[in-house]
Formats: sequence, C-alpha cells, structure tokens
Amino acid sequence: MPLHLPPLSRRRFLATGLAACAGALAWRDALGAEADADRWALLADTHVAADRERASRGVNMADHLARVVKAVADLKPLPAGAILNGDAAYLKGEEGDYRLLGELLKPLAAAGLPVHLTLGNHDHRDNFRAGLGRGAARSPLASHQVSVVEAKRVNWFLLDSLDRTNATPGTLGKGQLDWLAGALDARSAKPALVVVHHDPQWTAPAKRSGLVDTERLFEVLAGRKQVKALIFGHTHRWRREKREGIHLVNLPPVGYVFDKDSPSGWVDLRLGDGGATLTLHALGGHRQDGVRVELTWR
Ligand SMILES: [Zn+2]
Repeated sequence: MPLHLPPLSRRRFLATGLAACAGALAWRDALGAEADADRWALLADTHVAADRERASRGVNMADHLARVVKAVADLKPLPAGAILNGDAAYLKGEEGDYRLLGELLKPLAAAGLPVHLTLGNHDHRDNFRAGLGRGAARSPLASHQVSVVEAKRVNWFLLDSLDRTNATPGTLGKGQLDWLAGALDARSAKPALVVVHHDPQWTAPAKRSGLVDTERLFEVLAGRKQVKALIFGHTHRWRREKREGIHLVNLPPVGYVFDKDSPSGWVDLRLGDGGATLTLHALGGHRQDGVRVELTWR
C-alpha cells in the first residue's frame, strides 16, 4: 500500500489529515501522549489467513500475530508506531485475510499506536483496502502506494514492491524510483530509513526471487548520504548486512519460518544520535530472543 491505521482516538482527525498531506505523515500528528518518538516496532510476513485456525509449517499465524501485538501494545514506553512490512495476508491476499488482520491489529490502535503497512507479494491492493476498510492514504503515485512518514529523528520511506500477487519476485519500477529520488532530495536533513517488502539481490537477474530492480534502487540510495538503512522482509530470515555503508536489515517473519533454525518474531528499534539499536523479540523460546544489534549511521 502502504495503509496507515491511526490510533482509535485520533482516527477522525487523521482521516482528514491523511487526505490533505498526500502521502506524508508528520510524527506530531500521529504520536500518542505516552509514546517514545524514537521507538518503533518492526513486523513483517504475518501471513494471516481468513480462517483463524489455519496453520502453516506448524505455526498458527493468527496466534503468532496476537502474541506480537500484545507484546507491542504492552511496551512501556509505547513506540511511536508499528510498521508491518508486507505479506500481511496468507497467500493470495483475500479479503477475509485482511478482515482478520484488522481484528488482530486492533489492540495496537486501542493502545494509541498508528500502524503503517506495506504490500508484499502475497498481498492484493484492492482486497487490502476492502478488507481493512479504513486508513488508506492517498499515494503520490497512481501506479503504486508509497508514502513518507516524517518522524522526529528520521524519515521513513515506505515503498511498494508488489508486482503480481502470489508470484515471488518484486519490482519497484522507474516511476517509483524517480518518486523516491525526489522524496529523498526533498528531505536530506534527517536520516532516511527505506522500507520495502522484497530483499535486495545482486545475483543473476533471471534467478532473482527478491527485488528485481535492486541495482536501480541502489543507484538512488547509495549517493544520497541521508539513507542509512534498507529494511525488508520476504525471506523469513533474520539477517543483517551492509552495502555501500547502508545497513540491510532483514526482519524475521511474525508467521512461519522456512528454515527451522531461524527465529520468528518482531524487532524493537530504538533510535539514537548517529544510529539505532535493534532488539530481536523471538517467539517460542528461540535462542536468539533478546539479541541486540547496534547500527551506526554512515
Ligand atoms: Zn512472506
């Protein structure tokens, strides 16, 4: 999309505010009174099915999301917001998947947290809107749903790499990359954190299961020194790398893993001067639960 689900008490205000600001949200508008402006909850790959009892690879996806939502809603201080980075739905992005997703996310709205969602390859643009039924921000692009969330210390750039629903690779396209370049140039003073569902890949183009236009994305990102991190999901693996000084953060899935050794869960991001601390919150007693990673900005 992204879609933005504002906190319950602020929904009416934001409904008008969103339409007016055409894809840019200001943190002051969205920040609850008890929230820490430098704390963000990062989620990806929830794969929630319409059937609440549905399990895949031994995981009930609705249960996993409910546990993560409770953990985030109970944080003290609360984060400024949560980002759900694609593959919110099970496989084909059915309307019922999004209805249950909306139900499961409600405690975040009740706690005062806005939730920002991007689309993955198992999502469906129209069903997403219909199923969640609220919070759709007008995108500055007709072809893709993109937006900028202007936070206190950083700007978040939320991209849309959905190409075809239930086909694995993703792409951004020239129009979206041109928009991104302009949006970054208009906001050079604060660190930029770029969020996209698909993983960057520099393998042979024919073999890519992730972001097909990775090189073109990096042509946009590398020379713009405000870009500090690229955050993605898709692989269902918790990994970090660095490329051109830009941190590559692969979020774990909230739902199931493909590789039994990998954790499922979510990431607590705390921003500071010159960097951020990531804390992995793994489900099911995984040995990596609580692991911290320090990111220093280039
Ligand atoms: Zn996925």
